Amino acid sequence: MKMYYDSDADMSLLRDKTFAVIGYGSQGHAHAQNLRDSGCKVVVGQRPGGENYELAKQHGFEPMSAAEAAKVADVIIILLPDQVQGEVYKNDIAPNLQPGNVLLFAHGFNIHYGQIRPPKDVDVVMVAPKGPGHLVRRVYTEGAGVPCLFAVYQDSTGSARDFALAYAKGIGGTRSGVLETSFREETETDLFGEQAVLCGGLTKLVQSGFETLVEAGYQPEIAYFECLHEMKLIVDLIYEGGMANMRHSISDTAEYGDFTRGPRIVTDETKAEMKRCLEEIQDGRFAREFILENQAGQASLFAMRARSAEHPIETVGARLRDMMSWLKK
Ligand code: NDP
Ligand code: MG
Ligand code: MG
Repeated sequence: MKMYYDSDADMSLLRDKTFAVIGYGSQGHAHAQNLRDSGCKVVVGQRPGGENYELAKQHGFEPMSAAEAAKVADVIIILLPDQVQGEVYKNDIAPNLQPGNVLLFAHGFNIHYGQIRPPKDVDVVMVAPKGPGHLVRRVYTEGAGVPCLFAVYQDSTGSARDFALAYAKGIGGTRSGVLETSFREETETDLFGEQAVLCGGLTKLVQSGFETLVEAGYQPEIAYFECLHEMKLIVDLIYEGGMANMRHSISDTAEYGDFTRGPRIVTDETKAEMKRCLEEIQDGRFAREFILENQAGQASLFAMRARSAEHPIETVGARLRDMMSWLKK
């Protein structure tokens, strides 16, 4: 697989273009400021009334409506929550698109699952930083960049791919390297990762371990430290140097337990279920379920949030974290 760096990207492709960053949230604030610092002309489409509107003003932008921003721009970067993008696109962006414009996404969901269906005469590309927006901004100001994926869905101008690479350079991505993917690959792997491993798999693993200890009569505070708090220390070691680096740091006792007990916790049955989750992503069942959930006003999401907030791991954790003066409140 080829990595692309600064020297592979031509920022002159960004010159003479007006960029409309729609949404000044996590990704939006980072893309808008990084692009501006890279010499691009940037306008911000952000609805009034909230913190993000004030933040955009504090950062020296004059936020306008999504429709106004789309109208004056050549490049429209849609950085709204996935479930909001379809409506805003239909009402505010589509009526203001012109042939040769570029639509840019940081995640492929709405294009891949057909919630946004752009006309044939615009370019549709993705530049997806592999990190949260606040890191994308901070790392850029330090002279480095967060790695990105880029992809082309539709190339009407003939320069969509080069443009996406130039954009990745504009937000700092090529400083550390960017990889090429497709909308399908990015969307499906992103959903799978968050469901099976990063969010769904991890939270259920931590919670089950905590419950097992508490149900066996151990103090919940001790269970919290063992099953949740220490997770970060382990993950940091894996992040910095892979599994072997982590196993090098832990005791032989821990390492032996890891090799012999781990496969009894995450079993072939778990992997078979992972495959079923992946199939539901690939055939659109998950997307359909989530789209309908949003049409129902997120009824299930609200209920599940409320229920998990009451779990003892959260109440015990809140008390313990209050004692940890080094944690950001
Ligand atoms: P955020 O949730 O941080 O974005 C919120 C922005 O959308 C705010 O400007 C908010 O305005 C606006 N907004 C929310 N609802 C509406 C609405 N109904 N009408 C108009 N504006 C609205 O999004 P992210 O930055 O997290 O995500 C943006 C895109 O980037 C997504 O496609 C996501 O998948 C992708 N992405 C996100 C990453 C991340 O780490 N967060 C990483 C990589 C990609 P207000 O303040 O007024 O509510
Ligand atoms: Mg995701
Ligand atoms: Mg131990």
